[in-house]
Amino acid sequence: MTEHETPVLVAGGSLVGMFSAALLARHGITPLVVERHPGSAIHPRAAMIYQRTMEIIRGLGIEEPVRQESYRRFEPDGAIMSVESIAGNELNWDIPTLNEFVKDLSPTERLFITQNALEPMLAPRARALGADIRFNTELVSFAHDDGGVSAVIRDRATKAETRVRAAYLIGADGNRSAVRQRLGIAMRGRGVLSRSITIYFRADIAPLMRGRNLSVIMVRNAMFRGFFRLEKPFESAFLVVNSVGDPSSPVSDTWSLSEDQCLGLVKSGLGVDTPVTIDSIQKWECMADVADRFREGRVFLAGDAAHLMPPYGGFGGNTGIQDAHNLAWKLSLVLKGVADPALLGTYEDERRPVAAMTAAQAHTRYVLRGAPHLAPQGMAAFINDAHIDLGYRYRSAAIFTEADDDGAVTEDPRQMRGRPGTRLPHVMLERDGERVSSIDLVDSGFALFAGPLAGPWVEAAGHAARDAHLGCQVFQAGATVGDPEGALCDAVGISPSGAVLVRPDGVVAWRSAAAAADARPTMARVCAAMVGRTVAIALALILLTSAPMRAHHSFSAEYDANQPITLQGQIARIELVNPHSWLYLDVKGADGKVTRWTVEMAPPVNLMRRGVTETTLVVGEEVGVDGYRARNGTPVVSGRQIRTADGRTLFTSPSATAPPDQ
Ligand SMILES: Cc1cc2nc3c(=O)[nH]c(=O)nc-3n(C[C@H](O)[C@H](O)[C@H](O)COP(=O)(O)OP(=O)(O)OC[C@H]3O[C@@H](n4cnc5c(N)ncnc54)[C@H](O)[C@@H]3O)c2cc1C
Repeated sequence: MTEHETPVLVAGGSLVGMFSAALLARHGITPLVVERHPGSAIHPRAAMIYQRTMEIIRGLGIEEPVRQESYRRFEPDGAIMSVESIAGNELNWDIPTLNEFVKDLSPTERLFITQNALEPMLAPRARALGADIRFNTELVSFAHDDGGVSAVIRDRATKAETRVRAAYLIGADGNRSAVRQRLGIAMRGRGVLSRSITIYFRADIAPLMRGRNLSVIMVRNAMFRGFFRLEKPFESAFLVVNSVGDPSSPVSDTWSLSEDQCLGLVKSGLGVDTPVTIDSIQKWECMADVADRFREGRVFLAGDAAHLMPPYGGFGGNTGIQDAHNLAWKLSLVLKGVADPALLGTYEDERRPVAAMTAAQAHTRYVLRGAPHLAPQGMAAFINDAHIDLGYRYRSAAIFTEADDDGAVTEDPRQMRGRPGTRLPHVMLERDGERVSSIDLVDSGFALFAGPLAGPWVEAAGHAARDAHLGCQVFQAGATVGDPEGALCDAVGISPSGAVLVRPDGVVAWRSAAAAADARPTMARVCAAMVGRTVAIALALILLTSAPMRAHHSFSAEYDANQPITLQGQIARIELVNPHSWLYLDVKGADGKVTRWTVEMAPPVNLMRRGVTETTLVVGEEVGVDGYRARNGTPVVSGRQIRTADGRTLFTSPSATAPPDQ
């Protein structure tokens, strides 16, 4: 049996496994993903993508192709409505236009894109970032110990087995998660609400649309309760059926329906007797349950493996993607040795309550829109979609919860205003003469957003982040970022001398509304918590590691302060880590030595807009990297320029950082 080592093994390469892969890789961790199917999802399933997910997609640099594919298949801003049948009685326009009332909350918008269209875009992105994705390969078994996870994976075509040793395992293996079962973690909630089916069919639906911008159509009639999801050019669709028969005492087990009966249900939902061809019928259990635990030692559960919810509201996939987003930066800091493994405990602390709240809300929508006979038993009060998508609140050791915290799991995103534990609000700022959303400024590292008079916080954050080995960008209004409308302070609830620290997942970790006398010790405490340590432990670790760190940095001694440097060589590898600010460039010098440069724009600009992509920089191409080392003994370089051997200047940065990470 062959052997393989990987920092993270991801079991399951569908929606959540693929996002886990791309997000980990973007943080510089290259995982191994195994997916038992020969390729990406074949069934559409998840399609409604909320703004928070779109922000993550945007950070991965694939927002535009995703939007284009969405508009090719769905009505932009499509509606969700309830009917007796598509051709017949309209009952309610549940959501008349998808982005109504939420456009101001984010730099991006909700849209519909099916899993089988989105996943094929994610996989190449994850691979380009360095993820090793193996289709037709399954996780056969695993065991975990204090030092890691030992697993066996099998190529389903050749039957060849490989022994894998991973530091961590993510179970993104769906609702029947073998990883969860192997760990003996139970699901808790409302049990099976219905044994539902999804009928994939072809029919001429276009004439029934009558110009309406419909994407999801809930059906409640005398024959059944369920919903259609329609794609252009309206020649095919799927119909979910949750229950059939008398609405007051319905049959919620639809698994034994014959194909003829399914045909009758489709026609009843369409409201016309038109030719219908059924392509397939999928059976699934409709549940609103959450796993008791999201983690056992070095194994994590994410996505449907951790929580199941009725597809009413379109939350299942979005919630799983946010699991991946929450976990990726934490795993990356721990694997890089920056953070203590204690940080990983915050994953379950933060995600489980949000998943439970979201599952309860999906249940509420299921009852209201698809199973009125269940109301109101065990039904949570309805919470607005945007409050679920953007208004969730985390509490954990990596959040400095404020004294007046009321314990709510979610709130109106317009009221959050930088409260620790909530998503950083979207506010338009200016960088490099271009308007940019605060959301886009936080990409893969920590960020301090500070008022124009918050110099002491800026200075303290610089020291504390350096001591904790955290990458932290500073966006100070009027200094490192423009705030033409003077909106930043109000948006995050601070005075001009206040500041907020935002984590790589865009969540506010800490806030000080104004200046404080103890800025240095406060920021030391905050940054230590971000790496899962108390200040005392953090200081001890810095002392312990300072000698080897200096040796590691001795590369810098070759250059004098403020003396220009040039590294000439051949590109061995490029990694566009963050299109908005930085890339890794492994440059092979004449002596054959490969040096890794982190080329960082400060203040950040969109590298892609400057023409820097993985394809404009070609492996093997000759490049020159010019810069100025600003300070002796530290890896800071300013005035960086990258040009190709044929004279193209790819960009010139007013300042850049080059850790001697060789
Ligand atoms: C009809 C319907 C409509 C929906 N609509 C929406 C919507 O609009 N928006 C939304 O957010 N959500 C929606 N959902 C929910 C959404 O589809 C799921 O939440 C989402 O697919 C979960 O993704 P996942 O990656 O966690 O799990 P899955 O998509 O189930 O993927 C798990 C993967 O793991 C693989 N796997 C399992 N075991 C192994 C193994 N041992 N080795 C290797 N691979 C393995 C499987 O082959 C599978 O590909 C809908 C669901 C349904 C049924």
